[in-house]
Amino acid sequence: MERNYDVIIIGGGIGGLMAAYALRSQSPALRVAIAEKGRMVEQRKCPAAGGRSCVYCPVCSITSGFAGAGAFSDGKFNLGTAYGGTLGEELGERLAMEYIDRVSQVLDRFTPEGIRIREYGSNEALKLKCLQNNLRLLDMNVKHLGTDNNLLIMQNLIRWLLENGVVLLPNTEVRSVDAISGGYRLQTAEEPLEARQIIVATGRNGAEFVGELCRKFGIAVRSNAVDIGVRVEMKDAIWREFSSQIYEPKILCRTRTFEDRTRMFCFNQGGIVSAENNDGVITANGHSFADPAKKTENCNFAILSSIHFTEPFNNPTEYAKSFSKMANLIGSGNVLVQRFGDLIRGRRTNDHRLGQNTVIPTLKATAGDLSLALPHRILTNIIETIYALDKVAPGTANDDTLLYGLESKYYSLKPEHDKDFRVYDGIYLIGDGSGICRGLSQSGAMGLYVADKITRP
Ligand SMILES: Cc1cc2nc3c(=O)[nH]c(=O)nc-3n(C[C@H](O)[C@H](O)[C@H](O)COP(=O)(O)OP(=O)(O)OC[C@H]3O[C@@H](n4cnc5c(N)ncnc54)[C@H](O)[C@@H]3O)c2cc1C
Repeated sequence: MERNYDVIIIGGGIGGLMAAYALRSQSPALRVAIAEKGRMVEQRKCPAAGGRSCVYCPVCSITSGFAGAGAFSDGKFNLGTAYGGTLGEELGERLAMEYIDRVSQVLDRFTPEGIRIREYGSNEALKLKCLQNNLRLLDMNVKHLGTDNNLLIMQNLIRWLLENGVVLLPNTEVRSVDAISGGYRLQTAEEPLEARQIIVATGRNGAEFVGELCRKFGIAVRSNAVDIGVRVEMKDAIWREFSSQIYEPKILCRTRTFEDRTRMFCFNQGGIVSAENNDGVITANGHSFADPAKKTENCNFAILSSIHFTEPFNNPTEYAKSFSKMANLIGSGNVLVQRFGDLIRGRRTNDHRLGQNTVIPTLKATAGDLSLALPHRILTNIIETIYALDKVAPGTANDDTLLYGLESKYYSLKPEHDKDFRVYDGIYLIGDGSGICRGLSQSGAMGLYVADKITRP
């Protein structure tokens, strides 16, 4: 097999796939490969699917493999810059929007005929309702593919890459990168790979890889914030006023006691709560299917509290992981689930009370006590946010509302880069792993942008 390329993309998520697509369409002579530590998308099967507990696969099929962490996601592409990263600040609003629109066009190209993709706009009345209750509704146009369509579109895009000569290397973890004359050598479990230029698109899950790369090449790194919180599940009807009018309510709250910022986001109407393995730490997440037959009678969303650390502490990822590990410890290797009513009464949820709950859990988690795994400040922020949301969607603070924990988002490393997202001569860093974005659209947009810089310098 060929081991020498013009460009090697490390990571086959949306960022890497979009970069490969643009490189190949704009410069068909370029020899391009994608090295991906997980499997081909069709082989990504989670042994814990169907409600079983996580078995800690060495490479998690939910978060790793071609199509990346977004493979089984809800496929919500935010067509704007108000959230999902800071691409607007990096490129300027106009240019960032140009690339986000191009991501949308690539998705259209690979959407099978006959499939109707819904797009949602903003809603002034709901915005006002939130404002009147001291909450800020962030609204943006959203293209919602749904988990099933998202997967089909990713498969079509990957097929196109294969048919157009992009070499796809599944089960190929890049362990380290060394500079050699005229490019780079990438160490893998097999023969090393070589490339003139590399695009690092390793997502959140590649944080350690990026950290090591920065240390080796002397790339300065800034620490970002970390978000810690829970996944919240309740009857779908409670948020229907919002979900029937805008696709995804994303609401910011300034908490009463600490004046911290929390955010409610990643809303899944008729969805399910899921567990994911992030380097051995099991955390909560959620998604939903576009197919009406697969809808549940619940909805779920995340409430996360943002923490910005100051000197001398510079390891927010480890901080967040340590609390998730604590929840796993108490939950016998699983995420915890607690009724809101139990949480505010200071008692654990047990299987008996969970069995009588009107909200039927969609994830088999361990009934327990989140207050043993979350710091007081974060727990207070979450409780206050739930009461604040209850004012705009009455019933959110019901006793039977379920909280799963922990959920955290760590996008802590933000390596220094130039205006083209180059962190070192011939090394580009894009997507969630860059610390710049945290969503499908902006990751994809960065992939297209960097490909332009390589093919049209
Ligand atoms: C359950 C879930 C639901 C989500 N829903 C949405 C949503 O609806 N909308 C939205 O905008 N965002 C969503 N997200 C976030 C979204 O998936 C990410 O923002 C997006 O996938 C980031 O793309 P990326 O290409 O930067 O990284 P990723 O998609 O994480 O891809 C990185 C890839 O690199 C591989 N990799 C890592 N290290 C190495 C290495 N050393 N060598 C080789 N390969 C490596 C990984 O295996 C992975 O496949 C969701 C995430 C999850 C987990």
